[in-house]
Amino acid sequence: MRETRTPPGACLACGKIVDAVTSLDGGHRPKPNDITLCLYCGHIMAFGEGLRMRPLTDAEMVEIAGDRTLLKAQRARAAVMGHKRPADGRSRPRGLG
Ligand SMILES: [Zn+2]
Repeated sequence: MRETRTPPGACLACGKIVDAVTSLDGGHRPKPNDITLCLYCGHIMAFGEGLRMRPLTDAEMVEIAGDRTLLKAQRARAAVMGHKRPADGRSRPRGLG
């Protein structure tokens, strides 16, 4: 997987700043109209001009439903975020919060 820096932009769903993307197919660099997934919340968006986030069109939503690469991305995201932020919060280190 290869990480590419992008202009900082807020996720359209959770508002977290996204400033890098990781390609799942090796050497692909993001370009306008590519589909992307927010690492924080899993929201699916597309890159617009200047690699700014934009909502999916209806046609894109239909096109990507069940897309194997996107499912792979969802699983990778779940694995990464599972280590960083337990869903139940019970395994947080003691002494924090
Ligand atoms: Zn998000």
